[in-house]
Amino acid sequence: MRYEDMEFENLRNIYSCISESPGLSRAGVAKHLSLSRTAASLLVSDLIASRLVSEAPGTAESGRGRPGFPLSVDDSFWRAAGAAMDSGKWKFAVCDLSGNIVDASEMEADVSSPESMQNALIKGIRKVQSKFGDTLIPGIGVGVPGIADATHGDILFAFDQGWFDSFNISQRINDETGLKAYVMNRYILEGVAEFTYANPDRIQDMIYIGVGSGIRSAIFSNGKLMYGSHFSAGRISHIQVNPHGKRCSCGRCGCLITEANSAALIEYAEQLLAECDDDSVLRRKALSAPVITKAADEGDRIASEAVRRVASALSKVICMVSDVVDPRKVVIGGPVGMSDSLVSFINSSLDEYFANSTLPFGRFHVSKATITDFSSAHGGASLVLRDVISLMLPSIKACKSRMN
Ligand SMILES: [Zn+2]
Repeated sequence: MRYEDMEFENLRNIYSCISESPGLSRAGVAKHLSLSRTAASLLVSDLIASRLVSEAPGTAESGRGRPGFPLSVDDSFWRAAGAAMDSGKWKFAVCDLSGNIVDASEMEADVSSPESMQNALIKGIRKVQSKFGDTLIPGIGVGVPGIADATHGDILFAFDQGWFDSFNISQRINDETGLKAYVMNRYILEGVAEFTYANPDRIQDMIYIGVGSGIRSAIFSNGKLMYGSHFSAGRISHIQVNPHGKRCSCGRCGCLITEANSAALIEYAEQLLAECDDDSVLRRKALSAPVITKAADEGDRIASEAVRRVASALSKVICMVSDVVDPRKVVIGGPVGMSDSLVSFINSSLDEYFANSTLPFGRFHVSKATITDFSSAHGGASLVLRDVISLMLPSIKACKSRMN
């Protein structure tokens, strides 16, 4: 291994050690990583000079010799950005190095075509850049619809948007904003945010299911997000749940997406309203997924029945996927998923499923996502933070040469 590569690895290990175990001293970090005290201390000094790590006066654990000072990531200077396309908007979240959101914004956008969607994204990124200037880490995580090739930054296709041909977005972002783009499905990024920032028990085996116009799951197994050989791991939307259901854009009938996405929810509500004369708040409103789930959560009978139909389709797939993956926790989110009544209908279906099963394990309830707004953009920013040493290496080197 070249010296530079070794130094990079050591910097990365030291940074992640400090970020995962804040409060360690330089000696503690050296011991933890089996590095010499001198080598570790020099690299910690580089990270401090680059404002990635701070060293507070105090009494951290120490071995022999002078007391150590506790180290932690420096949340005062650098900022990481994430963006996500969501219901005709681009949403942006900017975080400190610990992943706390320090700024969130959204802009209405024409996202009807790949071209206009990208134009709007670039415009939004420039706004973020002008606000945060040189404190922005030179990367951005971007949540997009459909199947995204995370290695090349391509959207391969997004059936729910009517985009059937693959196109690249990371190169244009890099060319026009100078930021390295990390492109991932928007619901997977919601799952990443939930797994990273709303998982106090650090559960390592988790499934997150985002339900909106698209449906996608993010599967974490032993702490690692599954990608699959074609970035399709967790693509549950074309699992057939009703052989007699509507024809799906994939050519088959009754896929989960046609039975449980936001359009299906609206259609169920329209059918139910047409079938009876019962009063419902839905009769006085323009139907949308948030309007229907809110009415269901407030006890509206027709809205509840529409949500129950979505829950019934989702439950079937949750049972199938969970039988394969064996998760400890299943979380539901997205514009349709953020509903107490949906979660409660799904849990009733799961109870029924388990009651008819003699298997002694694998019983669980789903829970509603805790990170709501900006969760996908938040997950995007976390991808930047995960790669922060690589992105900041030129800056660390420049800082070092100034000091020498
Ligand atoms: Zn399908």
